[in-house]
Amino acid sequence: MRIDVITIFPEFFGVLDVSLLGKARESALVETQVHDLRESATVKADGSPDVHRTVDDAPFGGGAGMVMKADVWGKAIDRVLMPLGVLVIPSPAGVPFTQSLAAELSHAPQLVFACGRYEGIDARVAEHYADQGYRVLEVSLGDYVLNGGEVAAFAIIEAVTRLIPGFMGNAQSIVEESHADGLLEYPSYTRPASWRGIDVPEVLLSGHHARISEWRRAQQLARTRALRPDLLPPED
Ligand code: SAM
Repeated sequence: MRIDVITIFPEFFGVLDVSLLGKARESALVETQVHDLRESATVKADGSPDVHRTVDDAPFGGGAGMVMKADVWGKAIDRVLMPLGVLVIPSPAGVPFTQSLAAELSHAPQLVFACGRYEGIDARVAEHYADQGYRVLEVSLGDYVLNGGEVAAFAIIEAVTRLIPGFMGNAQSIVEESHADGLLEYPSYTRPASWRGIDVPEVLLSGHHARISEWRRAQQLARTRALRPDLLPPED
């Protein structure tokens, strides 16, 4: 998979070099390129040079804050978006990012992340690329507002890339985890079997695989019911 990130803070993505994502990049499963949006802001819309490399302007219709310019974003995206690429625009007004969306995106040949700042990106950018036939996804990390799209882009990149076949050392670990089957994961424990007066549930020490599976399933249901009842199908 190829991942392109466009941002005014390319240094933020030094984080891509750490953790499992670093290993996947070394093994060529994922190729990432980070682009400075200001490289596409050296010339103004009228063709004159822009020494300030301006990426934002006041909103039409008035109001607080600044909006990121469509002409600058258009140039930056045109430089990297491939024919089957998906344009991902992080936005608090987007569709909620979920494990099933992550799984879907893990099959895309290319993801291009447009990281907004200020009041966001001129709305015509999403409209234009959708009109051109590209898949354009405005995606929200949750019901809160961040300062920029970088944290959201990184979270999406991490969730998507770990689902690429061959990425995880142990493929089973992405099958048995929260949200893989719509439920939260069961609680996990390791040695010592007793810690500060709290014992690991007896069944896990029994070596009885069928009983362990049964216990884990019951825990998944109980935990989901207690912490995230919204994930459970409605009862008749
Ligand atoms: N004016 C925008 C609104 O009210 O919808 C908020 C802009 S926010 C300050 C700046 C940028 O941060 C957004 O363009 C987006 O890229 C990113 N952002 C903020 N919250 C986000 C969220 N919950 N999920 C994804 N991206 C977010």
